[in-house]
Amino acid sequence: MPELPEVEITARLIGAAVAGAVVESTLSPGINALKTYDPPLSALHGVELQGIRRRGKLFLIDAGELTLVIHLMSAGRLQLYDKRASLKDKTSRVLLRLRDDERELRLREFGTQQRAWAKLLRTPEVESEETIAALGPEAWPEPPAPEELRALLAQPRPLYAILRDQHVIAGIGRSWVDEILHEAKLSPFKRGLDLHDVETAVLREAIIGKLGGAIDHYQSALSLPLPDKLPLPLTVHRHNGEPCPRCGTTIEAVFYEDYVMCYCPFCQTDGKVLKDRRLSRLLK
Ligand SMILES: [Zn+2]
Repeated sequence: MPELPEVEITARLIGAAVAGAVVESTLSPGINALKTYDPPLSALHGVELQGIRRRGKLFLIDAGELTLVIHLMSAGRLQLYDKRASLKDKTSRVLLRLRDDERELRLREFGTQQRAWAKLLRTPEVESEETIAALGPEAWPEPPAPEELRALLAQPRPLYAILRDQHVIAGIGRSWVDEILHEAKLSPFKRGLDLHDVETAVLREAIIGKLGGAIDHYQSALSLPLPDKLPLPLTVHRHNGEPCPRCGTTIEAVFYEDYVMCYCPFCQTDGKVLKDRRLSRLLK
């Protein structure tokens, strides 16, 4: 599940590699992936790519007057290949073939669901595109100042839900929220409106530190071509049953329908082990 750090490093590495390249042709083999038809994808033919920017967890592929917006959802990947895709590649959703070489920029999607999408927009329309217009402020590199952040988070919902809400703050998902809350020594179930000033400042630093640290790690560890699965430098998320990297207490987990939330009882919940939702459902 790509989140802000994974999208950022992908945008940087692939963006630098394709800047200046001219699109030769395009294909959209994923039936539902391309959500716009005007301008058509072929409007990119002969156009020079400027680079790739990131907004929240979205890519903005900058082609001058046009911008291709891509949302990977949970199982998409943006990759650059030296060879054209085989038509048998069932993961291909949108392809941009580059002129003068065999390179191909590919939106791929793994798994059975088709949820990743692309929209080709006129560049002035990008900010009013519905998903982008609804995004909260960026979580990194400069999240809102502490007072502003506290006001944003002052909701009667638990932190692990608020921080993953892209309308509140953009870029954090299921993996990095666990790492951030662990770093800040905050319970995932603490309500946003119960955060006091000092906790908010610590949380803000944890957001910057964890997301920035991951990007730095990727910057030194990764190069093109990017692997299908990026090695996420996580120490808490999906590390349940292992010792907490700070205090050695066993990391616990709460299991939901389709994901798992991990935390350290000593560092984050005053020793309390939170109810496992799977178990409580069975006991009803
Ligand atoms: Zn701990």
